[in-house]
Amino acid sequence: MRLSRFFLPILKENPKEAEIVSHRLMLRAGMLRQEAAGIYAWLPLGFRVLKKIEKIVREEQDRAGAIELLMPTLQLADLWRESGRYDAYGPEMLRIADRHKRELLYGPTNEEMITEIFRAYVKSYRSLPLNLYHIQWKFRDEQRPRFGVMRGREFLMKDAYSFDIDEAAARLSYNRMFVAYLRTFSRMGLKAIPMRAETGPIGGDLSHEFIVLAETGESGVFCNKDVLDLPVPGADVDYDGDLTPIIKQWTQLYAATEDVHDGERFEREVTPDKRVHTRGIEVGQIFYFGTKYSDSMKALVSGPDGAERPIHGGSYGIGVSRLVGAIIEACHDENGIKWPEEVAPFKIAILNLKQDDSNTGEVCEKLYKAFTAKGVDVLYDDTDQRPGGKFATADLIGIPWQILVGPKGLAEGKLEIKKRSDGSREFLGVDDTIARFAQ
Ligand code: ATP
Ligand code: MG
Repeated sequence: MRLSRFFLPILKENPKEAEIVSHRLMLRAGMLRQEAAGIYAWLPLGFRVLKKIEKIVREEQDRAGAIELLMPTLQLADLWRESGRYDAYGPEMLRIADRHKRELLYGPTNEEMITEIFRAYVKSYRSLPLNLYHIQWKFRDEQRPRFGVMRGREFLMKDAYSFDIDEAAARLSYNRMFVAYLRTFSRMGLKAIPMRAETGPIGGDLSHEFIVLAETGESGVFCNKDVLDLPVPGADVDYDGDLTPIIKQWTQLYAATEDVHDGERFEREVTPDKRVHTRGIEVGQIFYFGTKYSDSMKALVSGPDGAERPIHGGSYGIGVSRLVGAIIEACHDENGIKWPEEVAPFKIAILNLKQDDSNTGEVCEKLYKAFTAKGVDVLYDDTDQRPGGKFATADLIGIPWQILVGPKGLAEGKLEIKKRSDGSREFLGVDDTIARFAQ
């Protein structure tokens, strides 16, 4: 992408409505535009990051055996009357009527709809286990939408739903999602700690929230600081094998949200030097809720003995749009965003430091063509801005690698490569630079 042809409406001033750094940086970097309270348009730079996050989420869901489908955003109120949640959900649910006065709602979550789909087709235990997921916009009419994408009203969520014949099998499904979540967040460059959590309006008795520690987070949390150093399973993890050793390792150290925090146990199990009490951002949550929806909505399958029984369910959410903000909270400095490479909107920025110089222009074109030919995401700053402005833009929007092309360096046949994450610099020839980044 040539910056002169791109749509990147950068703001010079700090927007005063933004209370936390991720919101401020997303507005300044031209990623996001507020259209109404808690409702945003994703501008091209923000959209690219959202898509990268979505892709990682999808790959790890697929790897763990979940199957993607797509349910609509609008749902019939009657479906929610079956589970009893239509009245219980309260003012957070956006209720809509169509021209025939049929009552609809903009889905805040999809347990009812997926249960309806499941019961229409699946009749036997032989089709289990089954885990279906989608990545779809949700609406919750939050009382206090704030912090940009962190607490929106319309937001993008990945939600998966597992169906099993009994509790033991359902726990295996839960464990697969638990491990998939560890991998998902770690691939985005995040440390997200699974913490015991309350189940809330979803129901059930087993739940973990995945929390990124941050002072600006909205959840109070307690944990043993050793959980921060636990290893995340590799891509070769066997989802058909025994995952309990991984689960044990991650759940035996104390980690809980404040809603379920047990002060006595915390003091008994965690020595004072290891006690962490801080705040965090909830980027995902997993639930086992047993037969809550299959009982009320009659999602029954026949077991090996021929008798019908309600399935045991779980649901598994990831805040895809919230993650964009959470990653910025974890990865920034005073100059702007520092994207981890896996989620960066572009991997490389080429900065032409003397736009009217035919030499620098030629080298930039050569780099740009070589990278695009190899499918490397590259942003070429070919604007008339002064070098200082180009540096500031590249730092603000957080591109992991900056290639600085200036007449001085070129006189010695060198380009300067700056790594955004740590500010380190090295000098390489043109062909070496191409070989290094265009694999
Ligand atoms: P919270 O406690 O933050 O209100 P929740 O527990 O109600 O969230 P879940 O039903 O568990 O949310 O939804 C799954 C995920 O969706 C959450 O872990 C979070 O990352 C994301 N999420 C929930 N509400 C919002 C929101 N208003 N804006 C952006 N993301 C959200
Ligand atoms: Mg939650």
